[in-house]
Amino acid sequence: MDDKKRKLKALSDIASIDITLEFKEILQNILKIACETINAHSGTIMLVDEDTDEVRMAASYGLGQDYPERVHEAAREAGVPLTYSPSGCVLKTGKHYIVQNAFEEPSGKPWLHLTKEHGFSSIIFTPMKRESKVIGLLNVYMAEVHRFSEDEIDFVTIAASQAASVVQNARMCSRLKNNIQELEQYEGCLEDKVKNAYKELYESEERYRDLFENANDSLYIYNGEGYFKEVNNTALRLLGCTTEEIIGTHISEWITPESLNIAREDLQKRTAGEPVESPIILEVICKNGEHRWIEIRRRIIKDGDKVKEVHGIGRDITEKRMLEQELIESEVKYRDLFEKADDPMYTLDTEGYFQTINNAGLKALGCTKKDVIGSHISRWLTPESLRVSIELLQKQISGGDQLEQPPTLEIICKNGDHRLAEIRTRVIREGDRITGVHGIARDVTEKRRLEQKIQEYHETLKKSCEDLIEADRIKTEFISNITHELLTPLTSIRGFTELLYDETTGKINDGQKKSLQIILRNSDRLIRLIKDLLDVSHLEKNKFGMRFGLVSIGDVISKCMQDVQPQAKYKEITITQNISTLPSIWGDEGRLTQVITNLLANAIKFTPQKGTITVAAKENQNEVKISITDTGIGIPHDQLSRIFERFYQIDGSNSRKYGGAGLGLSICKSIVESHYGSIWAESDCNGSTFHIVLPKLECIKKTGL
Ligand code: ADP
Repeated sequence: MDDKKRKLKALSDIASIDITLEFKEILQNILKIACETINAHSGTIMLVDEDTDEVRMAASYGLGQDYPERVHEAAREAGVPLTYSPSGCVLKTGKHYIVQNAFEEPSGKPWLHLTKEHGFSSIIFTPMKRESKVIGLLNVYMAEVHRFSEDEIDFVTIAASQAASVVQNARMCSRLKNNIQELEQYEGCLEDKVKNAYKELYESEERYRDLFENANDSLYIYNGEGYFKEVNNTALRLLGCTTEEIIGTHISEWITPESLNIAREDLQKRTAGEPVESPIILEVICKNGEHRWIEIRRRIIKDGDKVKEVHGIGRDITEKRMLEQELIESEVKYRDLFEKADDPMYTLDTEGYFQTINNAGLKALGCTKKDVIGSHISRWLTPESLRVSIELLQKQISGGDQLEQPPTLEIICKNGDHRLAEIRTRVIREGDRITGVHGIARDVTEKRRLEQKIQEYHETLKKSCEDLIEADRIKTEFISNITHELLTPLTSIRGFTELLYDETTGKINDGQKKSLQIILRNSDRLIRLIKDLLDVSHLEKNKFGMRFGLVSIGDVISKCMQDVQPQAKYKEITITQNISTLPSIWGDEGRLTQVITNLLANAIKFTPQKGTITVAAKENQNEVKISITDTGIGIPHDQLSRIFERFYQIDGSNSRKYGGAGLGLSICKSIVESHYGSIWAESDCNGSTFHIVLPKLECIKKTGL
């Protein structure tokens, strides 16, 4: 095979090297083929490190692996840069460099010992280029001094170019591999990241769902047309419905028409980017028909110009609103009460300047609101009252809220009139701070005047009463004295008249007897009257001497009936009796006789001719009841209790017709009450009945009367 053919074959061999081999092996093969083709002593392929620019051995044919290091070492020892060497020159220029005789090459001096040691003489340094960049060197060493032919140079250059391609491809492959590896790693990472992202998304979705469902406020989402897509539990609770009952329904089913308008207007403004009021307050209709007030904050989610969703947060403010409403109503009520109150009302600030005053207050002061509001309280009070009012204010500020006795202040009206007002004040607090004083006044000018008058009347009355008591005492004393004085001569007159009438002192004719009878009757009347008067005076002085003992009340009644028999007979009055067996009672027999006789005498007196008197008596559980009924003139109902008053007679003409002084019944009442009994009268068109009730002896013992 001629030289040319060998080189072509060699190039074909180089081209058909198995590229699946390792990169270093390929370079080794290229170098080997190149060296063998031109019968070289040895050869090297050096590559420039892409990162450090250092030259490293990539393949060696006939030279040791340490050769490049030894070249470096020799350069370092010689103190010359590597670029000074032929390799350096190729790297710099990008052109091949031929050293025909290494022993004569001046730039090869530092490496001469290596040349000798390895036994080569000529060298061709060929650049391995990729585009214009030198990426390495393919060097071929000849044992003998050799003159490289053009063909050899071309061949080595082509081999170097092939090697460069291999390097380049290998580097690209390696980069590709790295990229693929990185990609694979990245893919792995990405998968993890995606997984994590999904996990986070899921967790955040969970969190969001949890927050959404368990939020204290109602949360909801509805679409651009107003149909509910989602609502949370709070919203369901508020509306009292289930998810199925609300999802897909329109908001108009759950709010009042007015609120629907508010919501729509708000949405329109938001869509147009106009300023809106937030929150809005809507009136929601629950499933059971109840209306509730909800404060709503909304956010719209747009898809282009269209509203895609409306997200809302609602807070139930029904209770708050009701309280506010109540507050407003009570404020209105309070204001109304304040303005319409009959008593003057006002508020002062802490300095004593009027802040408000009602109509009654203005009326009392005789001025307008303009005159009072902002004026100081001193303008309307006398100096003394101002002092009292300041003291009162200080007391209240320092603790005591309400004084027990409201002070009376002297007020100066606009026209200069002075009026008296009772003032009740209360400090107004905002938290711990006192912001003013609230006062209610009551005009007591007239009341005080009346009180003054009443006091004066009281004094006068007290004086009159004392005078009357004194006069009564003198009168009673007088009656007591005079009756004694009258009774003594009258008893003597009656005694002697009786002697004359009984003819003890001698015979008298019928005319004289009649006259003496009249004297005797009238003396008796006088004596009875005087005795009654004496009794009354004794009663008044509480000197009604009683002699208590066991009294057979039945006997007393019989005796009394006998005593009045002549008078009854005189008027042809029948006295009947209905008396059961009666027990003895504890009493004064004489006084009880006086009572029954008096009642019987009255019955006879006030009963016309031929009338009837019935005396009834019976024993009850605790008492003995005696009733004397007549068929007399009767007693008007309104007088039934008054007839027991002293000197009381139903009417004057009667007294003249019937005689008497109106003392008998009052004496009877005193005697009966001294026996712990009672007396009363009943009357109808048929006549009158007088009842006496006296307690039985056992009853007196039991009760300790
Ligand atoms: P007088 O001495 O006037 O009878 P009394 O105190 O006994 O005084 O009675 C007071 C008045 O009560 C009488 O004046 C009379 O008007 C009335 N009165 C008393 N008893 C009867 C009676 N049985 N029937 C009608 N009126 C009577």
